[in-house]
Amino acid sequence: MHSLPEGLSQALKMLQDIAAGKASLDTLNQARELGMVIKDSALCGLGQTGPNPLLTTLNYFLQEYEEHIRDKYCDAGVCQELFLAPCENSCPLHMNIPAYLSLFEAGKISAAFESIIRENFLPASIGRICHFHCKLRCRREDIDTPVAQGEVHRYIADIIRGTKKEEKVRKQITKEKLPSSGKSVIVIGAGPAGLTAAYYLIRLGHKITVYEQSSQAGGILRWGIPAYRLPRDILKHEIEFLHKLGVKFIFNKKVLPADIISWKKKHAALIIATGAYKEIPLAIPGENLKGVFSGSHFLKSVAVGKKTALGRKVVVIGGGNVAIDAARSALRLGAEVTLVYRRQEEDMPANRMEIADAKLEGVKILFMRSPKEIVASSSGKKVKGLKLSVMQAGFCDSSGRKKPLDTGKTEVLPCDSMLFAIGERVDGEFVKKFGLELTPYKTVKADPFTLETGIKGVYAGGDMVTGPGTAVQAMAQGKRIAEAVDRNLSGKDRFKLLYPDFDYDKVVPLNPEPGTKSKIGTLNLKVRLKGFSEVSKGLILAQAKRECRRCLRCDLKEESSI
Ligand SMILES: Cc1cc2nc3c(=O)[nH]c(=O)nc-3n(C[C@H](O)[C@H](O)[C@H](O)COP(=O)(O)OP(=O)(O)OC[C@H]3O[C@@H](n4cnc5c(N)ncnc54)[C@H](O)[C@@H]3O)c2cc1C
Ligand code: SF4
Ligand code: SF4
Repeated sequence: MHSLPEGLSQALKMLQDIAAGKASLDTLNQARELGMVIKDSALCGLGQTGPNPLLTTLNYFLQEYEEHIRDKYCDAGVCQELFLAPCENSCPLHMNIPAYLSLFEAGKISAAFESIIRENFLPASIGRICHFHCKLRCRREDIDTPVAQGEVHRYIADIIRGTKKEEKVRKQITKEKLPSSGKSVIVIGAGPAGLTAAYYLIRLGHKITVYEQSSQAGGILRWGIPAYRLPRDILKHEIEFLHKLGVKFIFNKKVLPADIISWKKKHAALIIATGAYKEIPLAIPGENLKGVFSGSHFLKSVAVGKKTALGRKVVVIGGGNVAIDAARSALRLGAEVTLVYRRQEEDMPANRMEIADAKLEGVKILFMRSPKEIVASSSGKKVKGLKLSVMQAGFCDSSGRKKPLDTGKTEVLPCDSMLFAIGERVDGEFVKKFGLELTPYKTVKADPFTLETGIKGVYAGGDMVTGPGTAVQAMAQGKRIAEAVDRNLSGKDRFKLLYPDFDYDKVVPLNPEPGTKSKIGTLNLKVRLKGFSEVSKGLILAQAKRECRRCLRCDLKEESSI
């Protein structure tokens, strides 16, 4: 029997071990048992209630405890011993941001680039479109604004592109490929998740074949995100590296359930990363009328160069990235665009910069309007307008945003065509035919740590597991799968071989560069609307260096605590 102070201090020690990444999964059972014993045996109120926080968090946040132990990861960014710096912790790929900032500032561009692509093989592409998870916890925000970590890796990748330095770094990484394991792995879907899994596994010596239903690799980065945000040649150049590493691509092949059954017998592992591409229907009268298109379908048509007859006036429904991309693309095709969104501006899930750019370019946005009915032309076949319910903001709902409430008023917005983009989801029927199980959230069920599905040797990752997320989150899933597959096939923990240590400055900056984040140049407004040329010009050299000097070097914990 434990005395009360002894029991609670033992529980505290267990929590400290978990927070320091020194615990094992057994610690969780021991902590639970200890908590129950203290609770049951204590005579005073303190003992009876003291273990409650431990027991309830073990009950409701078990996965977070497990993440601390199995992944040495603290999602909240609180357990300091588990991460290098807050930015590294919140970047889904855990890029060593202080390292590349420091190397670049010191003029070591090849080393900076090498440290970047070891962790993120699409730095120029992702640096353009990332949701910049790294900025969310950047400590520089306590002073003014976060460091432009992603824009810096974009800059480095942009200026090294096509140079001898780039070639040398890529050759070095190619040379380090481990000897052939003789194991063949199939990847289905060439989006960010599948490509990232392929990138790591080929370097670990496995034979990789990627099957893709479309004619090129990139997934949504190639067929969804418009070229004015992510130019095609940049993405193509970065994906080229996978070909050079020896990944075999088979394009224009839609994988069917029967393929899975036969491949499972012949290959060491199958990785399914086919995304969440099914558009959520509007489910209002008139959605089958001519002139009503899904936002992603429209974006894909633009990406393949197919014309969509939009007419003059276009209404876009939705508040996320797909809606904004569709609206800005329609604008570039000469339409007058009005976007309708059922909540307030601050509730829009789309990236703030994208919303600001859409407005600047001339997209009119109507907030607090919910689509009620699509109005047909006199022939009854074509869209003529959209009937909207006028909403007002009520109390906060479970999403933390104010619930839109119908005021009973309506209005009609005339239009020649309509693009709806109210969300995407996993194609459940298709996935089930593969023999995969769905979660209650209609995403693919997989082990959260290895991403192995209920079928042994079959892994799933990216949007199909998380639900629609961000590109770098999908890449992180690909990385997680690669680590699990390699551990399974080799019986060893070899992932660290892919990340040698870099020698970079470990000095706390006494006078970090003052001032807010550098302002990024953009394409002239008139030129923008004439086509799909890239809008963001990125940082210039002086700005990129300045951003490196703005970093507070939160990775240097010992020095900074002096
Ligand atoms: C319009 C739009 C804009 C976005 N903007 C951003 C942004 O700015 N920043 C950001 O970070 N994220 C953005 N996202 C989200 C991001 O693109 C996704 O989270 C990411 O691409 C998911 O990667 P994935 O590999 O899981 O799937 P996907 O990118 O969807 O790739 C899946 C691949 O699998 C292929 N495939 C599907 N079924 C089969 C089959 N049966 N056989 C063979 N191949 C198959 C598909 O053709 C596709 O190439 C955006 C999404 C959309 C739709
Ligand atoms: S200040 Fe530098 S090290 Fe600290 S979180 Fe921001 S980028 Fe990372
Ligand atoms: S990948 Fe995204 S989150 Fe990670 S460092 Fe780059 S911009 Fe930041």
